[in-house]
Amino acid sequence: MSAAVDLGALRGRDRPARAVVIGAGFGGIALAIRLQAAGIDTVLLEKRDKPGGRAYVYEDAGYTFDAGPTVITDPTALEKLFTAAGRRMADYVTLLPVSPFYRLCWEDGRFFDYVNDQTELDRQIRVFEPKDVEGYRRFLAYSRAVFREGYEKLGTVPFLSFRDMVRAGPQLARLEAWRSVYAKVSDFISNEQLRQTFSFHSLLVGGNPFATSSIYALIHALEREWGVWFAKGGTGALVRGLLKLFTDIGGRVELSAEVAEIAMADGRACGVRLKDGRSFEADAVASNADVVHTYGALLGASGRGAAEAKRLKRKRFSMSLFVVYFGLKTHRPDIRHHTVCFGARYRALISEIFNGRELPGDFSLYLHNPCVTDPSLAPEGAGAFYVLSPVPHLGNAAIDWEREGPIYRDRILAYLEERYIPGLKADLATCRIFTPADFRDELNAHLGSAFSLDPVLTQSAWFRPHNRDAKIANLYFVGAGTHPGAGVPGVVGSAEATAGLMLADLSG
Ligand SMILES: Cc1cc2nc3c(=O)[nH]c(=O)nc-3n(C[C@H](O)[C@H](O)[C@H](O)COP(=O)(O)OP(=O)(O)OC[C@H]3O[C@@H](n4cnc5c(N)ncnc54)[C@H](O)[C@@H]3O)c2cc1C
Repeated sequence: MSAAVDLGALRGRDRPARAVVIGAGFGGIALAIRLQAAGIDTVLLEKRDKPGGRAYVYEDAGYTFDAGPTVITDPTALEKLFTAAGRRMADYVTLLPVSPFYRLCWEDGRFFDYVNDQTELDRQIRVFEPKDVEGYRRFLAYSRAVFREGYEKLGTVPFLSFRDMVRAGPQLARLEAWRSVYAKVSDFISNEQLRQTFSFHSLLVGGNPFATSSIYALIHALEREWGVWFAKGGTGALVRGLLKLFTDIGGRVELSAEVAEIAMADGRACGVRLKDGRSFEADAVASNADVVHTYGALLGASGRGAAEAKRLKRKRFSMSLFVVYFGLKTHRPDIRHHTVCFGARYRALISEIFNGRELPGDFSLYLHNPCVTDPSLAPEGAGAFYVLSPVPHLGNAAIDWEREGPIYRDRILAYLEERYIPGLKADLATCRIFTPADFRDELNAHLGSAFSLDPVLTQSAWFRPHNRDAKIANLYFVGAGTHPGAGVPGVVGSAEATAGLMLADLSG
């Protein structure tokens, strides 16, 4: 795909084909790169003043905060974007290895450093439960098998027809994909803290470990295969690198460009109109925006849009997140880059987060301390952190976040101060929060969900919104709401699937 194809000529046009991509999240940017690299004249339109979507960046008083993704896995998926455009990733972005991948901590004071070293993993597992050393090996073999089937073979393939699902059926059955991640981990591992260690990963892509298909156990193998990375300068630097790649090869980006409507003519998408009145014509339109927002708000005037939005609203949506970005005057090198702070409850808390009607009284947290890998993200000698707490989405718990947000923030910071960061409050230089209401209002996320549709088996692959609309032949989707799903590798994989369809359609 590195050589530009004259797709205009292929379809008898006297100009290259034109595409509009709505939304500059990782999925939208990756798709825009692939299209532009293949010779499609591509415009990327982003509502906010900066690109990245969930991977937005806040800059406060000399501190740089990545808003969302921090755990970068599968660098090969990113490298492929540069290769497609005939460039080298190393000329745009530097990825730094992170070790341990995560430190997992419990309230009883125990912790597990999840590293990519078998001997060290065995040693730590033995401390928790000697017989789980052998169980872990069997789990790893299972995880690798799911990784080969679910990620390498199916992660970048669009599931447009039920036949595709039926074809994948035997492998899914063999791997017992109907069972949950936690259930499958428990087949191999007996110690409860180790079960948490090897099952929490699905939460990173919005999946409940007790309900999400065991296919998501593949994340473990993915991390063991390619490691965990962090972009020098933060995830924001990775976003900027990808965007520069897109513009370097001739792509056009418009920021602060909120799409108000996808224009239709003769049953096809013919372009978009922005809130500020500008319009862009296109031979194909792809949306990286939330799927319910795309159908309900951008196509709401058409029968198709209203009907699809209504159908999708009946689906289960993933949980939301409450995030506190805070700068400390002092660097805290004793806190690992990625720290998971498990609360006293696991199964019951997760059930309340996914199904409960109110904010749980306790929490499990993810704490981000990037300055241990890259001190440039804070003033000299200082530390830029974020902490996130998974919380119910707005459809389950109608919390008044304007009122509750500051109270919840203070509870989380007090908990961190007591257990992980002594003297936190006195050391605080800057602090801001992002709530489920912000996911809804800033990112147009349905119910303020942080990860779009819940990735249960009945909402995955063919059951997830397809990469191309079933009725509007030149309307496409990319990102967390379509196949394969959320997470940076997932949405970059969805861009490959969607680009394949678009290029075939535009040249057909
Ligand atoms: C706090 C947090 C931490 C995370 N951590 C990780 C992690 O460590 N590793 C990992 O792999 N994944 C992580 N994830 C998940 C991952 O970030 C997301 O799944 C992924 O980035 C979503 O990308 P996307 O392509 O779906 O687009 P999004 O990031 O959802 O972007 C969509 C874009 O569309 C724009 N848009 C919406 N409506 C319009 C409109 N009408 N007009 C124009 N633009 C519009 C939005 O402004 C937004 O920029 C995390 C998510 C969150 C929220």
